[in-house]
Order: sequence, then C-alpha cells, then structure tokens
Amino acid sequence: MSGGSDRIFSFEFFPPATPEGAAKLSATRAQLAQLGPKFFSVTYGAGGSTRDRTLAAVLDIQASGQRAAPHVSCIGSTRDTVRATLATYREHGIGHLVALRGDLPSGSADVGEFRYANELVAFIRETTGDWFHIDVACYPEYHPQARSPRDDMVNFKRKLDAGANSAITQYFFNADSYYHFVDEAAALGIDVPIVPGVMPIASFTKLARFSDACGAEIPRWIRNKLESFGDDSAAIRAFGLDVVTDLCDGLLSHGAPGLHFYTLNQASLTTIIWQRLGL
Ligand code: FAD
Repeated sequence: MSGGSDRIFSFEFFPPATPEGAAKLSATRAQLAQLGPKFFSVTYGAGGSTRDRTLAAVLDIQASGQRAAPHVSCIGSTRDTVRATLATYREHGIGHLVALRGDLPSGSADVGEFRYANELVAFIRETTGDWFHIDVACYPEYHPQARSPRDDMVNFKRKLDAGANSAITQYFFNADSYYHFVDEAAALGIDVPIVPGVMPIASFTKLARFSDACGAEIPRWIRNKLESFGDDSAAIRAFGLDVVTDLCDGLLSHGAPGLHFYTLNQASLTTIIWQRLGL
C-alpha cells in the first residue's frame, strides 16, 4: 500500500452533482484504488453548499474499503453547522479531515462565525479532541491575499499550533518554490509533513482559469508551449504528462513526503504519471 512505502499519496475528488457523475466517480475511484493511496479526499463548497454531496461521496469511498478525508471549509458557516458536520463524520467513523477557510462566492457578505482556517482547526480540537487527523492547506507561492510571504508563513504556523497534523500544498509548477517554502517552514520549527499538491494538465484553458483564480503560477515556458498546441488535446496531454512527471520525480527525489493529486475526478493522467514514476 501507499505506493510501497511510508510516503503519503492521496487523490482528491470533487463531489459529483448528478447520478451519472457519481457513477463515473465510483469507476475513477475503483481504478485509482489499485494504486494503493493512503486516502481519497473530497472537496467542500464554501458555506456548506456541497455538504450533502460531499458526505455522500465520502461514504461511498468508505464503503469501498478506502480511507476518505472530507474537506471542511468554515467561511460563511456558523459554529453550530460545523459542529453538526463534525458529529456526522464522527458517527460514520471518518477520522481524517482537510480543514480550510474556503472562499466566499463574490457578492456574498455573510462571513459567518469563522474568519480563518486556524480558528476552524482550534474549533475541531475543542469539540472533538484528537478524534480527527487534520490536514491544512499551504501555499509555496504564497496565498494571493497574504500581506507578505512572511505573514503567510506565520499564518500557516497558526494552523499547526492550533492542532493540525500535516499539510497539503496548493499546486505549483516551480519546484524551487516548494523547496524554499519547506526550508522556511523548518526554520520556524515546523516539522509536519508538507505534501506537494500536483495538478495533472489536461487542458490549457481550464488550467489557466484555475491558476488565475488560486494564484498558482504557470511558468512562461509552459504557458507558451501549451498555448502553441491550440486545441490539439493529445499534444497538450503528452507535454503536460512530461512536465508533471518530471516535477513529481524531482520532488520525491528531493525528499517530499508524498504527493496529493488534484484528479478532477479523472483517473487516466494520474495513473500514467504514477506508472511513469514507478511508484
Ligand atoms: P487560511 O489559512 O485562513 O488563509 C487565508 C488567508 O488569510 C491567507 O492569506 C493567510 O495568510 C491569511 N490568514 C490566515 N490566518 C490568519 C489570521 N489568523 N489572521 C490574519 N490573516 C490570516 N476551498 C474550498 O472552498 N473547498 C475545498 O474543499 C478546498 N480544498 C482545498 C484543498 C487544498 C489542498 C488547498 C491548497 C486549497 C483548497 N481550497 C478549498 C481553497 C482554499 O479554501 C482557499 O485557498 C482559501 O482562499 C484559503 O483557505 P485556507 O484554509 O488556506 O485559509
């Protein structure tokens, strides 16, 4: 299991919106389960908008015998709703969460009762003790709203001081940003696993849209190459596989504690990267 080592390999899904999407996700999960990941995580819409769908996807993963880690975001939520969500997961024997602030949909004014993810982590520990293993997010290229890189690192540490056990990064294509971030974290005394988030490349337009929204940089040479392929999706896939496999290979050989794949509910690219890495 776990790619044949203690390393932490995980696959992220989003909760499907239709019965067809759910059936397709079950097939994706069955295929990816053969790779022996440590867990599958399922995202959560800000303000609890995907609450039921996230729960359904998580229970489906669990019923298949795999470990499931729901994401829980806190922006726009009350303490009571988060408490109820935690209780539901606990009742179902779920022992792992990815705790996030989330982003308010534009135009939404109701921030709710939590401002930042460190408050959510503290609340989880306050209400459920050590029941959950808690992962938090971090940003090798720094969070787009951070006042400064230093400030963002201090805020990352707040989440760990509040009781988080490990971290998953935003995706990036520039490995140096990750190495630098990990060194800076170590200098602050942070010693939890910081698992790189990996985004396989299936489409340039989608990748560009995501990257603009979350502040992840697509290096100029990658952007230029991808753009030059136009709508030749086979060329985009082939180039993307080369770039992302090299990135993962470098990260693992530099001691990254594992990899977290943003699968976008597709098995094929992640599986090919996995096989090429010889995991
Ligand atoms: P925080 O850690 O709260 O940080 C947000 C910003 O506030 C940062 O700029 C930080 O520097 C600053 N900050 C933090 N704490 C403080 C403080 N105490 N005082 C002052 N400033 C502070 N979003 C979803 O909606 N659903 C998901 O399922 C989801 N999954 C994700 C999974 C991963 C692995 C990652 C990397 C991101 C995910 N996101 C998800 C996106 C995430 O919600 C956004 O990036 C969001 O903008 C920040 O969330 P956070 O938990 O990192 O927030």
